[in-house]
Amino acid sequence: EHNIMFLRSFIILFLSCIVIRLSLCLSSIPSTLKTLPLNLNFDEASLRHAARDFGNRYQHHPMAVLHPESVPDIAATIKHIWLMGPSSHLTVAARGHGHSLQGQAQAHGGIVINMESLKVKEMQVYGGNSPYVDVSGGELWINILHETLRYGYAPRSWTDYLHLTVGGTLSNAGVSGQAFKHGPQISNVQQLEIVTGTGEVVNCSKEHNGELFHSALGGLGQFGIITRARILLEPAPTKVKWIRVLYSDFSAFTRDQEQLISAENAFDYIEGFVIINRTGLLNNWRSSFNPQDPVQASHFKSEGRTLYCLELAKYFSLEEIDVVNQEVERDLSYLSYIPSTLFLTEVTYVDFLDRVHVSEVKLRSKGLWDVPHPWLNLFIPKSKIHSFAQVVFGNILKETSNGPVLIYPVNKSRWDNRTSVAIPDEDIFYLVAFLTSAVPSSNGTDGLEYILSQNKRILEYCERAQLGAKQYLPHHSTQEEWRDHFGSKWEAFLKRKSLYDPLAILAPGQGIFQKTV
Ligand code: FAD
Repeated sequence: EHNIMFLRSFIILFLSCIVIRLSLCLSSIPSTLKTLPLNLNFDEASLRHAARDFGNRYQHHPMAVLHPESVPDIAATIKHIWLMGPSSHLTVAARGHGHSLQGQAQAHGGIVINMESLKVKEMQVYGGNSPYVDVSGGELWINILHETLRYGYAPRSWTDYLHLTVGGTLSNAGVSGQAFKHGPQISNVQQLEIVTGTGEVVNCSKEHNGELFHSALGGLGQFGIITRARILLEPAPTKVKWIRVLYSDFSAFTRDQEQLISAENAFDYIEGFVIINRTGLLNNWRSSFNPQDPVQASHFKSEGRTLYCLELAKYFSLEEIDVVNQEVERDLSYLSYIPSTLFLTEVTYVDFLDRVHVSEVKLRSKGLWDVPHPWLNLFIPKSKIHSFAQVVFGNILKETSNGPVLIYPVNKSRWDNRTSVAIPDEDIFYLVAFLTSAVPSSNGTDGLEYILSQNKRILEYCERAQLGAKQYLPHHSTQEEWRDHFGSKWEAFLKRKSLYDPLAILAPGQGIFQKTV
């Protein structure tokens, strides 16, 4: 009997907690919002989900999650908060696929808008001389790939991983191995529909409302919520020659990379990565890759050395195979990689673009996907890449077994200086991406604290040596740091904020502006 009484009191206490929590949520929601027919969720599971991201380090619970069914749902929500004026503490964060690293898509005590729920019209593909597709800002790139391929087209510029939303990548830049040729994804957008921080729905392009268009691209979600985008397409290939070659000499590696990004017709995709103190490299490698000559490749001993891998891809359709084989052979003959390290395979275009998803499935099955990801992404000017490599790959980084370290150059001429993204002031700059995973509760070199301290040392070195580096997917703690980050673009950034989100309602998780209360 004692036990039953205890259980009863426990259940009553538990239920009252839920009721109190729910009423607290409802009471702090503006009454005007409550009267609108919006699909707002307050349940613990929704709030917890909206408080998580891929970085798995920051968790800020919102007060509610909106699942918009239409653009007017988003506009009505923001308009109401805007009309409440500066006295309300409410903020709004668009959440794409939640693959941010440091809470950028979170809104502490605010409203998170789950962009994937937004169903605008069906995706519309238009052919002709300058093909494009109109998509929702909450659409995943993988879906866009499959839909556009039905018409024989595909977007020109990608990210390495396609389970990200259009609004999420366009708010940063969207950089991958095609960027040297087509620019980042923000250079491949023709029009946007945006709900600004005052709840206005605005259509914009370079020519029409150009200031808002350029603000939003690379704008870290600060100027409006992208609800629709017109993405440029190209005729899609069916197959891809996927090539990896190794270098032990960093100068030869970067010389070849830089040469290749200026020869636009040689390859369709150019990236690279660093391998430090990895053992059994070739065995691991071969499991996902078929070397052209495994016997010859197996003579190559990688153990313990720092190597640089150049990764290339050439798109083609089956009827072009002979010509493509000759072209690839010719273009590879100009490069100075270690001859016994040519790895070459042929895959479908979809398998090539969706390659990281294969790793995701593997890592998920081992419980290694939802771990902390203390990633660090940097843009380094070409003139400083050798000093950077010497210090960072030579001294700071002792191994690359915690995750890949990408390094590849892009042409600044393919970036539009009117957009908000901060990049180095040089014609060629490198993306260097430390894509590390931390082993939960480890105190060793694979633990979060160690990796974060390593990142800190890298950032401090960049600062001290005045490399002119910029963080990509930036994270800064003070407005002073943001001012430095944007440099000469800072004044324009402030002006744009005061035009399009004067109360600083949007994307509070970026930590650039605080809503004035
Ligand atoms: P979220 O994390 O949900 O949002 C990111 C920011 O954009 C937030 O501030 C959010 O409020 C805002 N936002 C989201 N949707 C909208 C919208 N519709 N309108 C306005 N603002 C919005 N990046 C690259 O450039 N190249 C890569 O190769 C690459 N590879 C990646 C691989 C993996 C495995 C992961 C996890 C990330 C990778 N990224 C890459 C980074 C990725 O582009 C960014 O983290 C991106 O923001 C994630 O998109 P998302 O839809 O998850 O956005």
